[in-house]
Amino acid sequence: MKRILVVEDEDDIASVLVDYLQHAGYQAERASDGEQALARMLQSPPDLTLLDIMLPRLDGIEVLRRARLRTASPVIMITARIEEVDRLLGLELGADDYICKPFSPREVVARVRAVLRRSATDDTTPPALARLLLDDTHWRASLDGVALNLTRLEFRLLQALSRQPGRIFSRAQLLDLAYDDTADVTERAVDSHVKNLRRKLAAAAPGDDWIRSVYGVGFAFEDARA
Ligand code: CA
Repeated sequence: MKRILVVEDEDDIASVLVDYLQHAGYQAERASDGEQALARMLQSPPDLTLLDIMLPRLDGIEVLRRARLRTASPVIMITARIEEVDRLLGLELGADDYICKPFSPREVVARVRAVLRRSATDDTTPPALARLLLDDTHWRASLDGVALNLTRLEFRLLQALSRQPGRIFSRAQLLDLAYDDTADVTERAVDSHVKNLRRKLAAAAPGDDWIRSVYGVGFAFEDARA
């Protein structure tokens, strides 16, 4: 049975999460402050940690920063403000996903399941990057030997995402990385370019999905079979 550590100081929220996780077949444990959470994460690492940011003694950001020095165990960060996510992404803490309050416990369970599934397959799948070739002198890309025919923008997006597999990028970060001049580009434009990019990748390697949407946050390049 997978062990999930719920780190949240608000009793109501924590007990709803623990209930839902137990119903979904997980062994759910709880920590109610940052120091306790860090000690648990290091002494007997859970299969996944749900980590709230606002915590007594040590905030969630500091907990993750310190935990990451010693463990790669998956972490989903919980934030009370959607605007905070961009700042968190900038810190590159290495969280596996982000959830904003208010959330539905059902959604949290679905995201827990998805992160566990990805981390379970991480070790066994061949590296995605071995299949993907990017030639930045000619702006050409191929996947499994099939040319992708990307626009220059799509190429730059793919390059930015695939250079750091697993890292979650916000739309604003991708705008900065892919465009020379972001003055009259909207973040929505990123969505449509990513959509086209996905379609081209899927045409070259049907059934694989290389770019993961992180709900309310942005995108990450993933091993397609994870
Ligand atoms: Ca809290």
